[in-house]
Amino acid sequence: MTLTGKVALVTGSTSGIGLAIARALAAEGAKVMINGFGDAGAISAIAEELGALHDDADMSDPAAIERMVQRCADALGGPDILVNNAGIQHVSPVDSFPPEKWDSILAVNLSAVFHTTRIALPAMRGKGWGRIINTASAHSLVASPNKSAYVAAKHGVAGFTKTVALETARDGITANCISPGYVWTPLVENQIPDTMKARGMTREQVMNDVLLAAQPTKQFVTPEQVGALAAFLCRDEAAAITGANISMDGGWTAQ
Ligand code: NAD
Repeated sequence: MTLTGKVALVTGSTSGIGLAIARALAAEGAKVMINGFGDAGAISAIAEELGALHDDADMSDPAAIERMVQRCADALGGPDILVNNAGIQHVSPVDSFPPEKWDSILAVNLSAVFHTTRIALPAMRGKGWGRIINTASAHSLVASPNKSAYVAAKHGVAGFTKTVALETARDGITANCISPGYVWTPLVENQIPDTMKARGMTREQVMNDVLLAAQPTKQFVTPEQVGALAAFLCRDEAAAITGANISMDGGWTAQ
């Protein structure tokens, strides 16, 4: 139990990668606040499993983000560990990309990371200890067609993380990105129909020729693998890792 006494706030943790990260941090003894949308019964079950509090703040709403971080501080303390993981996707060529989708992807995938970070940093500085872990993506390093907003937002997260790492380098705080390749979660499953339409492909062709085409291992990354890396980044042994963008992509960005 390396995180006993620490408080972790994990955005977008009612599903997929965020849920796996919340589980990994809770297993190391952290008190956790989860966040995200979904079926109320399913969310209650997750909160009970982890002994976690749930906050339904919409990550596209800066006022709701502020209330969530304050509630975490009031109810649990911290957050000592901030995991910016909430993310959404839309797949469409740039010239027909709906502007409202662009705005919401930038708000949830990028601006929310700024807001949670700016609000959580003073308490971390006060304690002289903090961990900021941002779920970026292989798309923070390379692009794919039809994902302009997502690629722009994830490149933005990578740059923002480096800046935060430099500003906090002497404060006992680290800021890093984890950049997974394709992880089998609802976010990936849900983009298959749009990609089928955009590229005129079958489901199997999208899986093999689009998603895993980029991943030399031909295996999806698992949410649990990402959770384990997040837990490692919180350990004292990881204190010298800051400003890094750590790929977990089956070799995708080595090509
Ligand atoms: P997911 O759809 O399973 O989970 C997304 C989570 O974010 C859910 O809990 C959802 O309720 C929450 N969420 C969505 N919009 C929100 C909002 N406005 N406010 C608050 N919460 C919101 O997706 P996932 O695949 O687990 O993705 C998690 C993160 O990992 C995202 O940032 C995504 O870009 C990134 N990522 C995913 C993959 C992949 O292949 N699945 C690869 C690289 C990076």
